[in-house]
Amino acid sequence: MTIRPDWDEYFLKLAMLASERATCPRMHCGCILAKNKNVIASGYNGSIPGDDHCDDVGCIIVDNHCMRTVHAEMNALIQAARRGHAVEGASAYVTNMPCTTCAKALITAGIIRVVVFSDFHDTLALDFFKKARVVIDKHTIPSTEISYDLKDYSSARVTDIPSLKQNAKTLNSIDTVTARGGIRKEKIRK
Ligand SMILES: [Zn+2]
Ligand SMILES: [Zn+2]
Repeated sequence: MTIRPDWDEYFLKLAMLASERATCPRMHCGCILAKNKNVIASGYNGSIPGDDHCDDVGCIIVDNHCMRTVHAEMNALIQAARRGHAVEGASAYVTNMPCTTCAKALITAGIIRVVVFSDFHDTLALDFFKKARVVIDKHTIPSTEISYDLKDYSSARVTDIPSLKQNAKTLNSIDTVTARGGIRKEKIRK
């Protein structure tokens, strides 16, 4: 029996999952922006679109920081901006305590709460968050395992692909529910 994660755990786990896409070997960070129990945007630290990855060609280090990557929090804010999704009043779930620059961006974007599980770094981020009355919640790290229960839930079982294909061969039409609630038969093109 798996334990159902609460909302904070759930969004932190999603942030951890996003961090798997990070491309800088110095740090893998993920961020989820959420409001009213919904994800608004996600981000991880990586290069600008179309540029080389740190993992492939190395970092660009200036003052001991990698300049090649856009940080996870910035990428999440930018993703929301590109898609026209408001982030005011949202919470940021981040795998690592935001740096000073990301903290300023989150505050300016109207983020009201930051949830992390990492230690706080020696930056100005915490001071800025406190001054802006952004709530900082530090949790313990959620389970790093994803419970996809293959044994107890049939929906999670590995599907027998050959038999599915066989079914598709014998099926000639599918029923589609129309906007008015009627049923429309659609022929399957083979
Ligand atoms: Zn890097
Ligand atoms: Zn940052």
